Amino acid sequence: MDLASLTVTELREQLRTRAASPLEALDAIERRIAAVDPLIHGYLHRDLDQARALAASADVSLLLGGVPIAIKDVLNVRGQPCTCASKILRGYVAPYDATAIARLRAAGAIPFGRTNMDEFAMGSSTENSSVCTTSNPWDLTRIPGGSSGGSAAVVAAGEAYAALGSDTGGSIRQPAALCGCVGLKPTYGRVSRFGLVAFASSLDQIGPFSKTVRDSALLLNAISGQDPQDSTSVAQPVPDFTAALGSDLKGIRLGMPKEYFIEGIDPQVDAAVRAAIKQCENLGAEIVEVSLPHTDYAVAVYYILATAEASANFARFDGVRYGHRAANPANLLDHYGRTREEGFGPEVKRRIILGTYVLSSGYYDAYYLRAQKVRTLIRQDFTQAFERVDAIICPTSPEPAFKAGDRTGDPLKMYLADIFTIATNLAGNPGISIPCGFAAIEGAQLPIGLQLIGKPFEEAQLLSIAHAYEQSTPWHLRHPPLSR
Ligand code: GLN
Repeated sequence: MDLASLTVTELREQLRTRAASPLEALDAIERRIAAVDPLIHGYLHRDLDQARALAASADVSLLLGGVPIAIKDVLNVRGQPCTCASKILRGYVAPYDATAIARLRAAGAIPFGRTNMDEFAMGSSTENSSVCTTSNPWDLTRIPGGSSGGSAAVVAAGEAYAALGSDTGGSIRQPAALCGCVGLKPTYGRVSRFGLVAFASSLDQIGPFSKTVRDSALLLNAISGQDPQDSTSVAQPVPDFTAALGSDLKGIRLGMPKEYFIEGIDPQVDAAVRAAIKQCENLGAEIVEVSLPHTDYAVAVYYILATAEASANFARFDGVRYGHRAANPANLLDHYGRTREEGFGPEVKRRIILGTYVLSSGYYDAYYLRAQKVRTLIRQDFTQAFERVDAIICPTSPEPAFKAGDRTGDPLKMYLADIFTIATNLAGNPGISIPCGFAAIEGAQLPIGLQLIGKPFEEAQLLSIAHAYEQSTPWHLRHPPLSR
């Protein structure tokens, strides 16, 4: 048996019964990485000596004891580089652990590799990375989605048992959909953001990528909970998210938002999602049509608020404290100007300029304030829909993975890749993407994602619905055609 092909749940069993050791689990992943990462380019960095030392002393009786986990390059892991795939942070080594990482460690997991991403999590294809592009394991000429494309690709390609990513407007769910794995964005406030390099602080949330819904529940168990270091983390009890798995869908009401089944969706995506909804009905769910009337404004509101927050957050990259510093500055302004000019890529610059503009006096009321008001309306749409249903069911992405290079010249087209995920971040609700079929395009089989959106802090129910669907379908059992 190849250990690398196991789920986290299966691997834990192997480790706990001493059928395999944490070192063997790590070696199996390393062999797989050596075989396929030259094709995928999912990892930016791995510290094997550190990982092997941790594996040698891992306590396999813990929740994730001895399980190696891949980490998006946006989370601080003490002693490892943290560059957000940006030139401006090249050479920066994290001096501390993010809370989510400290909690993974407390659960016995080994944060062992850094995964590629769009620079500072800005993008939908991982093509904005300053280091390299990552390939979709199902078709190497296509993008893995983004911004957490590295994490999604390494899980889908069997180069990681599971991974962490971050989701500001869809960056966990959209790449999970495009790579054919499970991706969960928890409720805003469920997981501490301490040690996550901030993009848009009111939208960012950390969450897991995994091969199965049960594995995501396990990881969420480890990383959830209030944290005195993050005032936006919420004092909600953390249930055992695996406890509710296994129930059926009888009595569950699922809402189909009519604004999410629109013209322009790829016909194979539309058909797969409708078939998935039918399957949930077969499993006992009642399907109800709901309306989220302000959906049309979500992308515009997001790009005003996310860029405004980013422009404020990114003031800290000044060449004084972290990473890149321009050589021989003539004076302080020249130092700031050239450091940022040399360090940031074009998408990051575009957003800082846009965000500064919408916050500037004279435009603040017209853009930023107005967008905040519409954000409230979008949140109310969800509150109202959830008076009638337990979860919302819809596509994760309007189409399967697109070709590398297809959208790099057209930022607005790229922004539309998150049309079905962005509103969830504006509202704060949890959302999950799970595999629900494949599209046959130009000889490739491309995964399709089903999105389920839940009530705030009801991840247990969301995971249980996702699990019931997953277990009744074969989609999560298929592997990309890379040689194993
Ligand atoms: N694609 C969206 C953006 O570019 C969302 C990114 C994210 O969730 N981090 O901002």
